[in-house]
Amino acid sequence: MSTALCYERHDDRSVGCRLCRHRCRISAGGRGVCRVRENRDGDLISLVYGLVVAEQVDPIEKKPLFHLLPGSRSYSLAAVGCNFRCRHCQNAAIAQYDDQGSGGMPGRPLQPAEAVRRALSAGCRSIAYTYTEPTVWFEYALATARLAAEAGLYNIFVTNGYITPEALTMIAPVLHAANIDLKGFSEAFYRRVCGGRLSEVLDCIRDYRRRGIWIELTTLVIPGENDDQQQLHGIARFIADELGPDTPWHISRFFPCHLMQDRPPTPLQALERALEAGDRAGLRYIYEGNVPHGRESTRCPHCGAVVVGRTGYAVTRLTLRDGACGACGAPIAGIWG
Ligand code: SF4
Repeated sequence: MSTALCYERHDDRSVGCRLCRHRCRISAGGRGVCRVRENRDGDLISLVYGLVVAEQVDPIEKKPLFHLLPGSRSYSLAAVGCNFRCRHCQNAAIAQYDDQGSGGMPGRPLQPAEAVRRALSAGCRSIAYTYTEPTVWFEYALATARLAAEAGLYNIFVTNGYITPEALTMIAPVLHAANIDLKGFSEAFYRRVCGGRLSEVLDCIRDYRRRGIWIELTTLVIPGENDDQQQLHGIARFIADELGPDTPWHISRFFPCHLMQDRPPTPLQALERALEAGDRAGLRYIYEGNVPHGRESTRCPHCGAVVVGRTGYAVTRLTLRDGACGACGAPIAGIWG
């Protein structure tokens, strides 16, 4: 537990949380949408500071980040909590955890300095704040990220893209990369399925880009929800027009999960349509996820040579030279060394 950052007090003892774009107004004794930030006597408290529910060394490819230190390990951490309520959440038990006010948040104590030590001793090049939504356990992520950066580690958010500019300003100096979900391209979809607003997500993604944080986007294609041409082309055009064609787009296959057990897995044709939308928009780096032998290697957009070969999460080939194609010398966007 710790006093929260990014909030304001009001005369009626309510507080305004400014961490994510819900911007909750929380009355005394209440909690925000994320259920992990509470108003205690007019102060906002993070209930999950330093309580880690998931800790694992992952390949960076699992985040997924394909253009950041390929083949490296990423020390991956989570506390409970999320500010969305996605019906298809793959980690709902920890992301949407609600103690119903009992005050008993799960997790093992792990102070930031110890997390950094573990990352280094496991041979990791980065720390990923992932599995749940790091924005809502921001204070812990920020303290850890600052120490990690001092120790020469990269910091990565795997996020739904809902952080406020105020909070991003605080962490941006030590945040090197993010994989951001762009879950669909309609306000109705975001409202009904996720509990957020598309316009805020788009604005947040632009904000990450403006600050020079390396970003890759992920879209889970769900049958009957976000697999129509309008949304797929909308996402592809947004990436190409506003973020640039060098921004990687990960298109992922859905399998029934959480409150969406009634849907079939994404038909491969729907993924093909998404790939086509990306190709037509001129995106240079498009990848398929959750598909064996899908499009998962990085090719040079100039000559077509494979510069990073992948099978699943394993890097099978690496022919980059100083961030350029080993065959033709064209630059390949990313952080490579
Ligand atoms: S972080 Fe939590 S409390 Fe703060 S605005 Fe977001 S949902 Fe509300």
